[in-house]
Amino acid sequence: MSSRETTSLDRRRLLRGSALFGGLGLLGLGGCATASGASGPAARQANAGPSHFDPVPPLAPLRAHTDRLFDLTVCLRPFRAAGPRLDTEQIGDTLVVHNYGHGGSGWSLSWGSGTIAVRKAMANSPREVAVIGCGALGLTSAILAQRAGAKVTIYAKDLLPQTRSSRATGAWTPDSRIALTQAAGPAFGELWEQMARTSFKTYRSYLGLPGTPVEWVDQYSIFDLSQEQRDAIGDRPDPLGFASYRSRIRDLTPREELLPAGSTPFQDPYVYRSEMMIFNIADYGHTLMADFLAAGGQIRQREFHAPSDLTQLPEKVVINCPGYGGRALWKDETITPVRGQIGWLIPQPELNYGLYYNGVSVVPRRDGIVVQAVHGGDMKGYGDLNETTDRAESEQAVSVLADLYSRFRAPHQV
Ligand SMILES: Cc1cc2nc3c(=O)[nH]c(=O)nc-3n(C[C@H](O)[C@H](O)[C@H](O)COP(=O)(O)OP(=O)(O)OC[C@H]3O[C@@H](n4cnc5c(N)ncnc54)[C@H](O)[C@@H]3O)c2cc1C
Repeated sequence: MSSRETTSLDRRRLLRGSALFGGLGLLGLGGCATASGASGPAARQANAGPSHFDPVPPLAPLRAHTDRLFDLTVCLRPFRAAGPRLDTEQIGDTLVVHNYGHGGSGWSLSWGSGTIAVRKAMANSPREVAVIGCGALGLTSAILAQRAGAKVTIYAKDLLPQTRSSRATGAWTPDSRIALTQAAGPAFGELWEQMARTSFKTYRSYLGLPGTPVEWVDQYSIFDLSQEQRDAIGDRPDPLGFASYRSRIRDLTPREELLPAGSTPFQDPYVYRSEMMIFNIADYGHTLMADFLAAGGQIRQREFHAPSDLTQLPEKVVINCPGYGGRALWKDETITPVRGQIGWLIPQPELNYGLYYNGVSVVPRRDGIVVQAVHGGDMKGYGDLNETTDRAESEQAVSVLADLYSRFRAPHQV
């Protein structure tokens, strides 16, 4: 393991105290740490942040009322202990390049993972390439194969608005439930860094577009106890040892900062600010579909039942991006479902920041405000393949936020 990586032991230490109080921005969303990549006390200290202090702009209150929940969704993260599957396989006369099993990081790593898959697929310069799947990984792989010069057809049972990808949080969480440290081994850290850096760079080209497919927002993590008090309280369970690679890309994002007491409308004494990149998936998905079709891409809705079905396709190079569907299609039992539920509050255009408070996280997407109960950390939902929504879970999460905002001082009162 590289010295730059956080060992699972370190990670447990970093996460100590967060079981009750969370404290870690996006932990448990896609979901991992804060936008700055900090995870817990040691990271917070190491990350002790900028010496400057930018004043906090006026913050609009979140309208945290359960009757504003306009949708509930559930999705299964396709988790593989060894990390995503990226090897190749020859089936008859068809070369299959796998690109599935990205856990809670599929959107974040998509461009980097797709770049690796497309390089393998284009090794012999095929004129035509098939892509199985129309989620985050399928669409980005298809666009990258077009950019590499191939004529591309996507084959998928469901298209983007119906795929599991469209039910994701939509945040830059590149090492969320991406692997287990032991099972993935040290080499995966290098590969992960390559994928994360390529993706991050590619997302740059989707910023500032009409419709705001991708944007940066401030993120506030709010606590009523100090870091030391939270450290003393307990541990976030991580018996499996989820991998954390964020220290490898610390240079990409700003440091988290502890804000001076009284500088925000939140009444709790410990408020941290970081920044996070978010994906407004309704618009971003449309943008990807439009780009693919504009470049001459074809889409065929079709379900495959066995790997041998792929040999019936006219294309002899196939990039395989079935996500959690790989478990049934490829009989791949190395994929573990990790359930995640989102309660969607009606969008508030004036709400331009995310937050973490008392085991609940909020991502202020344009297509709906994402509210998630994230207590339990990476183990939350692990092994649970129940895709039925649980309204009580989301109502409870909104109630936690209602409590926070009952003590919020509106801008004119600060
Ligand atoms: C609650 C939650 C929050 C998340 N938040 C984030 C986040 O903030 N950031 C992030 O980066 N990641 C996040 N993720 C993870 C991310 O959503 C996944 O890693 C990603 O969606 C996987 O994309 P995919 O394209 O591999 O799979 P999918 O979106 O499932 O797409 C699979 C495609 O393959 C097709 N397919 C499957 N089987 C077959 C078959 N047999 N025949 C034909 N077609 C088939 C499907 O129809 C579909 O088109 C989150 C996940 C969850 C559950």
